Amino acid sequence: MNWSVFADYHTHTVYSHGSGTILDNVKAASIKGLEEVGIADHGPANWGHIGSTSLRVFEEIIDEVKEIQTQFDQLKILAGTEANIISYQGELDVPLEMQRKLDQVLAGFHVSIRPKSLEDGVKFLTQWTLGKLSKKQKTKARNDNTKAIVAAVYNNEIDIITHPGLNISIDTPELARACVKMDTALEINAGHGIKSVEFIRAAAREGAKFAIGSDAHTPENVGKLETGVKAAQSAGLSPDQIINVRLEK
Ligand SMILES: [Zn+2]
Ligand SMILES: [Zn+2]
Repeated sequence: MNWSVFADYHTHTVYSHGSGTILDNVKAASIKGLEEVGIADHGPANWGHIGSTSLRVFEEIIDEVKEIQTQFDQLKILAGTEANIISYQGELDVPLEMQRKLDQVLAGFHVSIRPKSLEDGVKFLTQWTLGKLSKKQKTKARNDNTKAIVAAVYNNEIDIITHPGLNISIDTPELARACVKMDTALEINAGHGIKSVEFIRAAAREGAKFAIGSDAHTPENVGKLETGVKAAQSAGLSPDQIINVRLEK
């Protein structure tokens, strides 16, 4: 039986650094026959044009999604964000109050962001120089990162952790255990290229569930999930471990 991926929760629009509007992404998702599409624009802590300009942007996204939804009855549109971890206490740049207004909250560890404090900034900067660190310093950085992402999972209402481990060293089993407790999925990111299926296997061993996301920054890439599907299959996952996959009838 074939896998059917019925949703893409991770797409960017002009509200952060995507090239399409919400309507462009929605149309693309509709043409591809998806049942759900998520708007997941970056929180405001990303540098320059990458992030949304302010938290108010999410109010606009919510209104626009409501308006566009009236034109589509076969497709559910989710107003959301890909928030940034901005402190090593696991705070996000999209606060709880806004998270609760949104249909979905994705969160990721991105290194090029404005950190909450100078101390956090030093730790984020460490990620850039990881290659030059001693073994002990590397272990410390990995422990700090893991603590931050686990705290983010516990202290927020995150549906999906995006691209875990991308450009950042973390302990996957520890993150996966927190995600299981908080009902948070781990993303298999089809846009950044899957470097290893080992992370999927390690998280699956802890009982984690997954979401395959395109991380589309152009409407053409919305619903482009094949590399994620392949990675999930080579890791031996079954569709019931993935929140946006089912077996085709
Ligand atoms: Zn990201
Ligand atoms: Zn993204």
